[in-house]
Formats: sequence, structure tokens, C-alpha cells
Amino acid sequence: MYAIEVEDLRKTYHGGHEALRGISLKIAKGDFFALLGPNGAGKSTLIGILCSLVRKTGGRCRILGIDIDQNMPQAKSLLGIVPQEFNLNIFEPPLQILINQAGYYGVPPRVARQRAEQYLEKLGLKDKAKTPTRMLSGGMKRRLMIARALVHEPPILILDEPTAGVDVELRRLIWNFLTELNAAGKTIVLTTHYLEEAEALCRNLAIIDEGKIVLNTTKKKLLAQLAQRTYVVELARPCKKLPTIKEFPVVAVDASTLEATLQRGQDVHLLFKVLDRKQLTVHSIREKTNRLEQLFLELTGKKEFL
Ligand code: ADP
Repeated sequence: MYAIEVEDLRKTYHGGHEALRGISLKIAKGDFFALLGPNGAGKSTLIGILCSLVRKTGGRCRILGIDIDQNMPQAKSLLGIVPQEFNLNIFEPPLQILINQAGYYGVPPRVARQRAEQYLEKLGLKDKAKTPTRMLSGGMKRRLMIARALVHEPPILILDEPTAGVDVELRRLIWNFLTELNAAGKTIVLTTHYLEEAEALCRNLAIIDEGKIVLNTTKKKLLAQLAQRTYVVELARPCKKLPTIKEFPVVAVDASTLEATLQRGQDVHLLFKVLDRKQLTVHSIREKTNRLEQLFLELTGKKEFL
């Protein structure tokens, strides 16, 4: 059984915009899964459907085997959701927000209070427990939303752009916290348009663009696919004919620019050595933008990621 199983999911908004055009995904229990894609790709729509904020136009979703069309309340209770936009009652203090949230899920008051205190502590908000939420900083509110998603202790946590607009320090803190949760067995799904975030955290990922999945793979495979580096080499003097190089593939961009692609284990010294042997003097060398971004651009045929 999967944590999340989505089959041919479709969403057409009023006005006819097709935000999801047949998405199928399986996310295993215990996975750390990233949904990547540029703004407008359909990530929030997908999450919105899973947690019943958005009505799907077609397809099926199962949360730990429970079909959302058949038993939405039960399916929903298995999820903790951290939305992208702040949606906290800013007039209530954090402790109360968490106790109320646990209450919605039927957690008895005494347990709710214990858990609320425990999650405030875990997220570094203990001393803000009774401060009105409107007085919290943006970073604190974000952590509070994470605590709120966890207080009914769902097996699956879904976060929509959890670190959009947060500073580097808080990003690290959130990353560490999520890594610990996942290590303790929670299934985590996050959306992001930060490629580094997916790279730092996830085990499996899907890249979504214009409502379709363009790639669904493991991070390991993806990085192996990316384990080659392309260097752009400007030559000091134009060369008339591209020399034959057996160590690595080289293409000529123009008479004084080459692109050489090194494989894993080949380092840039080899590039210099070989070019030197071919009596080509290097004027400058730089790494062509690569990695996930490059791959995304190749897969979608787009010119830029965002
Ligand atoms: P992402 O989360 O990947 O940025 P969204 O799921 O928010 O993408 O949006 C996907 C597409 O659907 C976008 O083109 C967006 O403008 C459109 N969209 C999102 N919400 C609505 C809505 N409530 N009504 C109409 N169009 C919407």
C-alpha cells in the first residue's frame, strides 16, 4: 500500500484553465518526496485536491489506501498540511491554535495540551506559546504552521513551498527538522521550486510542468544522470578544425569556443592536459549551468526555470 496514490488526476478551473492534465504518482510509505516545478506548474492544485481544498475534475486519489471520494474525513486525518500562505488566526496565541487544531481531530484536551507544548518546544516556539500570533515574525509563523500540521500526529506531512521567502538560517532549521521527522518514519511530501531543496532533502521526486509529470525518478538516479559536467572553454586562438579527442566528448560552439563534457571521475585537469596536448591554449573556462536546472530545461524545452 502506498502513502499516496494518484491516478490520472485532472483539474480544470472555472474559465477552462487546465491546471492538471492527467497526473499519476505513487509515493511510498516513509518516503521523502519532492514535487518540483516552476510557478504555475500545478503543484498547489495537486496538494489542494489531496487535502480536499480543491475539487478535482477527474481521476482518483488514495491516502494510505483510503479513496478520498469514499471517505474524505478519514483520508484527511492521515495528512498534515502546511500551506504556502499564512492562514493562522492571528488573534490567538500559538498554544491555543495547536490545542484547537488537535481538538478538530478528536484528540482529548489533556493530550492536546501536552502535544501542543511538545511541538512548540520542538519548533523553538516555547517562549511564544501565549503571545498573540500577530506578534510573531514570519519565520515563527511558518514554524507554527508546521507544528499545527503535526499536532494530530498524522503519518503523512505535506508542505507547500515550506521555505519560500525564509532566510538561510531558518531554511536550515526547517530542513533539519524535516529530515529528523522523516528518519522517525513520517512520510513527507513537499513542493518546491528550489532545486537545491529537493537535492538536499528528498529521496524521490517528480518534476511537474504545465499540469503534467515530465520526470518521476529517484534523486540518486537523477544525480547519476547529472554526474557529468559540461565546461565551456574559450580558446586563446580560434582553431580551424575540431581535434579528435578520445577521452571525452567535445563540440565546437564556434571557432574559439568548445564545450567539453567530463564524466564522473574525470576532473578538469584532464581537460587542460588533453587540450594542451592538442596545442590548444585555453583563454578561459567555466562550468555550463548544469544539474537539475539543466535537466529540467532539456526535458521541457524551456529557456528558463521560473
Ligand atoms: P504551482 O503551485 O505549481 O505554482 P498552481 O497549482 O498554483 O501552480 O497553479 C496551476 C495553474 O492553475 C496556474 O496557471 C494558476 O494560475 C491556475 N490556478 C490556480 N488556482 C486557480 C483558481 N482558483 N482559479 C483559476 N486558476 C487557478
